[in-house]
Amino acid sequence: MNTIRSMVLISSDAESLARGAMAVYNKFQEQVKKFGLQDEISVMMTGDMGRHDALPLVVVYPEAVIYGPVSPEKVPLLVEEHLYKGRIAVELQASARELSGRIAWLSARKGTLPAEQRIVLQRAGLIDPEDIEDYILHDGYEALGKALAHMSSGEVIEEIIKSGLRGRGGAGFPTGQKWRMVAQVDNYPKYIICNADESEPGTFKDRLVLEGDPHSIIEAMALAGYAAGANEGYIYIRGEYKLAQTRLAQAIAQATEMGFLGPNIFGSDFNFNIHIHSGAGAYICGEETALIESIEGKRGEPRARPPYPTTHGLWGKPTVVNNVETLANVPAIIRHGPAWFRGFGTKNSPGTKVYTVLGNVNVTGLIEVPMGITLREVITIYAKGMKNGATFKLAQTGGSSGSIIPASLQDTPMDYDSYNRAGVSLGSGALLICDEETCVVDLARVLLNFFSQESCGKCTPCRVGGQRAYQILTNAAEGVGKLSDLDDLEKVAANLFQLSNCGLGQTAGVPIRDILRYFRAEVEAHIRLKVCPAGVCPMSGRRVKVV
Ligand code: SF4
Repeated sequence: MNTIRSMVLISSDAESLARGAMAVYNKFQEQVKKFGLQDEISVMMTGDMGRHDALPLVVVYPEAVIYGPVSPEKVPLLVEEHLYKGRIAVELQASARELSGRIAWLSARKGTLPAEQRIVLQRAGLIDPEDIEDYILHDGYEALGKALAHMSSGEVIEEIIKSGLRGRGGAGFPTGQKWRMVAQVDNYPKYIICNADESEPGTFKDRLVLEGDPHSIIEAMALAGYAAGANEGYIYIRGEYKLAQTRLAQAIAQATEMGFLGPNIFGSDFNFNIHIHSGAGAYICGEETALIESIEGKRGEPRARPPYPTTHGLWGKPTVVNNVETLANVPAIIRHGPAWFRGFGTKNSPGTKVYTVLGNVNVTGLIEVPMGITLREVITIYAKGMKNGATFKLAQTGGSSGSIIPASLQDTPMDYDSYNRAGVSLGSGALLICDEETCVVDLARVLLNFFSQESCGKCTPCRVGGQRAYQILTNAAEGVGKLSDLDDLEKVAANLFQLSNCGLGQTAGVPIRDILRYFRAEVEAHIRLKVCPAGVCPMSGRRVKVV
C-alpha cells in the first residue's frame, strides 16, 4: 500500500484562480508524475488561506512551508527541491512579512500563539472544497447526524440560544431566538434562507467561506431547518460570486447523493432541500425583506415591518434568514456544545468574528479573531502596523453600512455591547483602516454617492436625502460650501435615521453623523477656510493643522 508523505495545497479562491492557480495545479500534477512521486504526494486545491499578498499560495504539509506567489514556471524547482530532494526552496517562499503572518496563523491552529481563533474558517485552506469526503474527514455532517439521532428540534434551538450566537450580518440579533420564533408559529411550509448577497464594498468574507467550505453552510441550513420545522432552504447569493455558486451547486449535488440532503436524512423522517437563487446586482437585496421579494420574483424593495419574516416571510410563511458567517458557526456549536463556544469572545458576544482587513496597513486579508479584541490589536498584531509608519486616523467598519471609528475609540473592545455603548456599530465585517492622508469629507462623499446610487427609491428620506447629502459634501469638497450646509447636513442625517423605511436609508446617515461627531473641525475647515486638511479634495493641496 502506498503512503502519502506530503500534501500540497494550492489556494483556489476567485483571486488565486484569476492569478493562475489552476495552471499551477496542473503543473504540479505534471511535475509530480515526472519525478515519479504520484503515489507519495497529494496535490489539492483548497479555499482561501487568509492572506492576499502573495497569491496563489502553496502550502506544503507536514512542514507547513508557505510558498507564494507561485507561478507555473516556479513549480519544477519547487517540486525538485522540496518534494524530491527534501530541501525547502527558500527562494520561493512567501516573503518574510507574509510568512510571519502565516506562521502566526498556522501556530494558532496548534494553539501556541495568541493569534487567530478559527471556528468559521476552521477548514479554510485545509480541505478541498469540491470534495465532500474531505469535508466529512474534517468532522463534516457530524453535527447534523448528532442532531437527528440524539436531539429534538427544541434541544437544537436551546443549544444555539445557550451558545449566545448572534447574527453576524451586522444587526447582532440572537440566532437561537430567531429560530425559536419560527419554530413556534403553526403555519407551514416554513423556509430557511441563507443571505449570501454580500455586496458591501470591501467585504468578501462570506464569499471566502462559500468558496472554501461550502458544505458547512449546507449542513448549517439543514440544522436550522430541523430546528425550525422547515423542509426547504434558499441560498440567495450575489450574482458575481460565480465560483461560490459553482461550488455550492456541486456541494448540494454531492450532499444529496450521499443522503445529507433530500428525503429521510440519516434515516430520520426529516426532509430538506436547498435551492440556489442568484442575485441580479442590487445592493438593497441584502436587506432581508427585499431579498425575500426578489426570490418571489418581484422587484427587490424592502417591505414595511412588522410583520417580520419570522411570521410572514417567503411566500408569506415563517422564514429564518441568517447570514453566511452566522450559519458557519452552527455545526461547530452543535458538535462541541454551547459552553465550548462561550469559551471564545466575551460574555455577551461569544464566539469569533471574521474581518476583511483593508487599507493603509502592512498586511491585508482575512482574519478570524475572538469577539472583544480591539482595533489597536487588529492593526498591530494582525495587520502588522500602519503602512510606512503612518499614523492611524480612522477605521470604517462593515463596508458602507458601518461606523467611522476615530483613533480615540481604537481601544474599545470590538463586541456588540461595547460598540453600542460607544455609539458606533460593528457592521458586517470589513475593516477599512485609514491613515491621516484620508479626508473625511471625501470618504463620506464616496459613501453617500454609493447609498444614493443604491437607494431603491421607495421612500423620500432616502431617495432624496441621500442625493442632497452627497451634493452638500461635494460642495464642501469643491470649496463652494456654505456654513448653513452644516445644519442641513445634520437635518438630512436625522431624517435618514428616523424616517427611512429600511436599514439602507438609516445607515446612509451614519457617515454624516460620525464625521460631524468626531471630525467636525475638519469638515468645517472645508467650508469656512476652503481648505482640505488632508490635501485630498480638489480645491486645495494645502495642509493645515486642524485642532
Ligand atoms: Fe428603499 Fe432607501 Fe427607503 Fe430602504 S430606505 S426602502 S432603500 S428608499
